[in-house]
Amino acid sequence: MIKKIITLLVLIIIFCTACTKKTERQVNTFDEIIKRGYINVGVKTDSFPFGYKDSKGNYAGFDVDLAKIIAGEIFKDKSRVKFVPVTSSDRMMKLFSEDIDFIIATMSITTAREQILDFSNSYHNAGQSILVRSGSKIKGLRDLNNKKVIIVFGSTSERSLRSAVPSALIVGYKNYKDAYKALKAGKADAIVSDDSILLGFSLKDSGVKLLPKRYTKEPYAIAFRKGAESKELIKIINEILDNQRHKGVLKNLRKQYGIK
Ligand code: GLU
Repeated sequence: MIKKIITLLVLIIIFCTACTKKTERQVNTFDEIIKRGYINVGVKTDSFPFGYKDSKGNYAGFDVDLAKIIAGEIFKDKSRVKFVPVTSSDRMMKLFSEDIDFIIATMSITTAREQILDFSNSYHNAGQSILVRSGSKIKGLRDLNNKKVIIVFGSTSERSLRSAVPSALIVGYKNYKDAYKALKAGKADAIVSDDSILLGFSLKDSGVKLLPKRYTKEPYAIAFRKGAESKELIKIINEILDNQRHKGVLKNLRKQYGIK
C-alpha cells in the first residue's frame, strides 16, 4: 500500500514538473526541431552495446546510431544530433525537465509508463536475465531466494524481481556501471536486468556470466513526452523506423553490435 502511494506521488511530481516546464518554454513540436536544426536525444552511457562512450569519449552504441539515423533522415545529415546522457533512474525526469526531444535509452514499453509517456513503435526485443560471477552456483530465478540481488533504480527489473522472487534482498544502484562493480566486489550475488545490457558485461569480462534464460519481454521503444506536442514527431519517427526495418538497417546494426 505504502509502495503504491509512493509510486503515485512520484508520478504526480513528474507530471507537475512537466506542466510547469511546458508553460516556461515553448512546446516542442516537429516544426520546432526543424527550425532548431538538430535533435536533442537522451541516451545511456552505461549500457554497452546500446549506449556508451567509446575509447575517444564519443557517444556510441545501437541507440546512439539509431539517433544518428533519425537525424540523417530528418536533416539529410547524421551529425545533426545533440546527445544528453541519461540513466535508467533519471531518464524520465530529464525528458520532462531538460531540453530533450526524446530518449533512446534501452527503455521498455510498459503499461505503467504509457500512463505518462508516449512511445514509438518497438525497435528491439530484449528480455530480463541474470548475471552472476563465473563461479556462482546460481542457475535460475529460484536460486535467487534469500540472495542479495542487484537492480538499477528506474528499470523494469526492480518490479519484476519483487514479484518473481519476493524473498530476494534487493540492492539498488543508480546506473549499470556501479551495479557491475558491486557484483564484482561481491556486494551481492547477481544482477537482474535486460540480457542485451548484461551481455555487454559478459562479453568484456570472463569473470561474469550471463544465464541464458529470459524471464520477461522487454520491447524497446523511443520515449516522448505525452501529449499533442509529440504526435507529429512520433508519426515521422515511426515512419523512419519502419523504413529502416524494411531496408534491413536495424538488423545490420544489431549484427554490428553483436545484439541478438
Ligand atoms: N529495458 C528495461 C527498462 O526499460 C531495463 C533496461 C534499463 O534499465 O534501461 O527499464
